[in-house]
Formats: sequence, C-alpha cells, structure tokens
Amino acid sequence: MEYTRRREQLAKRLQQRGVDALLVTHLPNVRYLSGFTGSHAAVLATSRAVVLLTDGRYADQAKNETAGLHVVITSGEGLLRVAADRVRSLELARLGFEATMSYSAFTHLAGMLEPTELVATHGIVEGLRMRKDPDEAAALLRAQACTDAAFDRATAFLRKGITEREAALELEIAMRRAGADDVAFASIVAFGENAAEPHHAPTERVLASGDVVKMDFGARVDGYHADMTRTVEMGEAAGELQTIHDVVLAAHEAGVASLTAGCRAGEPEAAARTVVEQAGYGQRWMHPPGHGVGLEIHEAPVLRRDDSTLIPAGAMITIEPGIYVPGLGGVRIEDIIHVTEDGPVPLPSATKQLLRL
Ligand code: ZN
Ligand code: ZN
Repeated sequence: MEYTRRREQLAKRLQQRGVDALLVTHLPNVRYLSGFTGSHAAVLATSRAVVLLTDGRYADQAKNETAGLHVVITSGEGLLRVAADRVRSLELARLGFEATMSYSAFTHLAGMLEPTELVATHGIVEGLRMRKDPDEAAALLRAQACTDAAFDRATAFLRKGITEREAALELEIAMRRAGADDVAFASIVAFGENAAEPHHAPTERVLASGDVVKMDFGARVDGYHADMTRTVEMGEAAGELQTIHDVVLAAHEAGVASLTAGCRAGEPEAAARTVVEQAGYGQRWMHPPGHGVGLEIHEAPVLRRDDSTLIPAGAMITIEPGIYVPGLGGVRIEDIIHVTEDGPVPLPSATKQLLRL
C-alpha cells in the first residue's frame, strides 16, 4: 500500500484547508494513512510529520503494521489527552478535526486545547480514499472472487423449502470457504414479496416456486469490502417481475456506461433513473443507485441526484438500481465498477441475466 504517497497528499490538503494539523479519529481513515488495523487509535498529521497514537494493547501490532511510522503508546491517559499535549507542545494555532468525531469527544478535546482554534473538516481523507491504488484494487478483486464463488454455490443450495436465514448462512459459509476474512456486511436474502424491501433482514420465510430471490452480499478480504446483488427466480416468477428485471438490467447498464473517469456523481444516477422512469417505474425509485466501496462498505462518493462530486480514475463504485413493488417483490442488480482511464470495468464474473433455478 502506498502510505507515503497518501500522507504526502494529505499534507497538501491540510495546506489547502488552512490548518496546521489534522487529528484523524475515524478508524478507516487511520488505517488508510498508517496501515494500523487495531480498534483504538488516532493519527495526528502535520504538513511535516505523522504520528499514530494507540494504547498499550496494540504496542507490538502498531510497530509491525506501520513500517517506520512514529508510534506513541498511551498509558491510560486517553488518546485525546495525548493528542492535545502534542498540539500544545508544537504550538499549533489551528487544529483540524474530523466532523464525524462525537460531540462528547469534541467538547473534551476543546476543553483541553483552549485557545487553539479547532476547525471542523469534512471528508478530507475520504476524498483521498476515492482513488484506489493498485494494492487496494487487488484486495477488492480478491474480495469479489470470494463473493462470485458464493453466488456459484447459491445456484446449488437454493431449493424449495430452504429459508432466507439458511440461504444467508450458506452464502456466508461459501464466502469464508473461498478465503474471505469475514462478511462485508450482514447478507440480505429476500424471497418473493419480501424482495420488495430494499434492505430485508432474512427470516424463516421458505422458498417456494414462483418466488424471486434477491441476494445482496459480499466478502471482506484484507480490510476491503465486496458488495454484489443478484436476483434470480425459483421456477417461473410473475411476468411483471421478469419485465422489472429487464428494466433494472437496462438501468444498471446505463449507469455503468456513464460511470467514467471525470464524471460527476449525479451522472450515473441520472442515467440509471431515466431508464426506470421511462419504463413507468419512477415511483419505485427508492435509493441512490451506488456508492464507493473500499475500507468501508459505504464510502465516498454516494451517487446522489445532482451531486457534483468528481469521480476520479481509480475509483471503485457500485451501480445498484432497484425496483420494488409492495406485495409482488423486487429486483436489484449490483456490481462494483472499477473506473479506469479506459472506461468502466465491472469486477464480478457472476452473470446478470435472470437465472431460473
Ligand atoms: Zn449491496
Ligand atoms: Zn451497495
């Protein structure tokens, strides 16, 4: 991973933001800048130096994971207190903090740092994280391979009588057998009318002939999260669901085609939504049709309507339009797309055609 390059880029952003240092407390950002994977840490970054702060439980791990980075081990006095002491000793006038910090942490920090000016920052490290370096892309590909392997297995274990909960467990076992460290998020498996809920939690509902099966799942490998949705049918589903599958697939393809380096986040949203609206399902458009993935399952950018965030080459973004009809069911089709200078490249190998089991 290119930690040195990342920290150099951060130093430039600090200058642009007009702060002397940034206190990074969001753990995925800490990991992105340092390589440290423990559960309690912060990074204090000035334009000249980066320090990782963590506690005694992680002394060895921090040294092993951060390759030469300056590590400060706290001993019971708290990360924020140690960070505040360093800020004071460096005589920093303007300290940036991440606006995702909790209010109680903020008031604690502010109480220790008067008269240092505290500046709320939004998405500085998240902005850097949008462009994946080659090692990150490789990790996402490994996570996707485990996810594809589980979909292959699904065509064997999805039989009449299996419950949503059992099917979710089978997917998760298949991903772990394929080499996943863990699941990227709680798997969504929805049969029949339950597929009308975009984020259905698996139940004891039994699979029956004529059901659609919507599965949204992914593996986590080396900290990186895959995310894929496929909708298949058990026997022959209602004709309208087959039509909906055609519309969602067309919307998906339109979204992918417009996801090019340098586009705005709102463009693939508009491309996918237009297909759904023209097919008469505009009232069933219920969520943004994609988001960044990486060290978090949902990260910048989110493909919101009219969002002008610039999508760089190297981004990894899902395209996942869906149509949901209460009482009938629903269809979503989701791939991670690698945005390259040569165009959008889907990561999954699993088919997007409507499979009949
Ligand atoms: Zn998903
Ligand atoms: Zn997703």
